[in-house]
Amino acid sequence: MRLLEFYKRQITVARIFGIPVRFDYRWFVVFFLSVWLIAMNLARGGMWVGIVQLPPFSVAAAWILAVITTVGLFLSVLGHELSHALMGRAEGIEIEEIVLHPFGGLARLRNEPESPRAEFRIAIAGPTASFLFAAISFVVMLPTVRSGYLTAGGVLLLLGAGNLLLAVFNLFPGYPLDGGRVLRALLWRRTGDIKEATRLAGICGMLISAILIIFGVYMAIAPTFKAYFMGFWSVLVGLFLFDAAYSVVKHVRGRLRNVVSEAMTAPFSIEPDLLISKLIDSVLPLHRQVAFPVALNSQLHGMLSLEDLKTLPRERWHLTRARDVMRPIAPRFFVEPNATLDYAQELMKRNGIGSVAVVGKSGELIGFLQTGRFKRTKRRRAKAPA
Ligand SMILES: [Zn+2]
Repeated sequence: MRLLEFYKRQITVARIFGIPVRFDYRWFVVFFLSVWLIAMNLARGGMWVGIVQLPPFSVAAAWILAVITTVGLFLSVLGHELSHALMGRAEGIEIEEIVLHPFGGLARLRNEPESPRAEFRIAIAGPTASFLFAAISFVVMLPTVRSGYLTAGGVLLLLGAGNLLLAVFNLFPGYPLDGGRVLRALLWRRTGDIKEATRLAGICGMLISAILIIFGVYMAIAPTFKAYFMGFWSVLVGLFLFDAAYSVVKHVRGRLRNVVSEAMTAPFSIEPDLLISKLIDSVLPLHRQVAFPVALNSQLHGMLSLEDLKTLPRERWHLTRARDVMRPIAPRFFVEPNATLDYAQELMKRNGIGSVAVVGKSGELIGFLQTGRFKRTKRRRAKAPA
């Protein structure tokens, strides 16, 4: 279990237009697999580029070309996600991060799109970019091959095909694929009911995943194909998608939207001047929270984590005030009420205090979310009839 956690830990590799780009360690496995597969095929020779066939490459050349191609494919996925992110920003949504995982990528938005139009534009931006990359690769490939640069032509062919696949696959009309988001936007606009639109798009996503899994098993065992790797990969992607689609369908029942305002509790805050001794004697017994928003006249000043008090000697409790030990206000300690629950959960996991304050447009404290309580709220809501 701990090993799995290690592989899932994310590292920030770059910051583009101020957006952090992260991936986890599993991604390196996929990177290596891709390089290996391409290198094996190039060393064997026989790939068709247009009407000419590539000769076998030396092992060193095959590996170098495979690395170049894989980096190119990786940049293609990044370009796809960046298009979603920049379109989201153009629609007024803040972008939390871009995560590259073994099955592609994800541009994580801070809030849900406000309208079907915004949802549609953000969803379609990714595949549009991929189609564009594919077209550029193919257009540049033709004169390259004609001038005799077969190797460069081969790399461009793989990049073109990779991007075309990325665009087409993502347009399958099942949530959470881009095509599923397009479908959700269309249904949402027609009926005005985002909940039902999400549920239907999610069910389509589950159907598509099931098809992928069946297709994968068939590819692997049918005597005509024996495409083990492709079959295995298709099953993996299918399972991954099914899991995501199923959780969307399951959660949509109890809630209108996955937003913070529906799961938060009323805020209980302490004043910056409150003595720690007072907090421990008279506040803690009544309010079982892992952290307390520190606020004055409803304006959030910081967060006080009980974890931080552990290092404070008992004899200093009556000399220390909340302001002295609180963590000063920072973006990782608060969310807006219309932020997604996913985002809030991520934040609570990472910010070191297991909770977040909910803050309105003008900075006033309006709610509080804490990991344990949040889960209970979620479960209770999931049980409630729709
Ligand atoms: Zn996409």
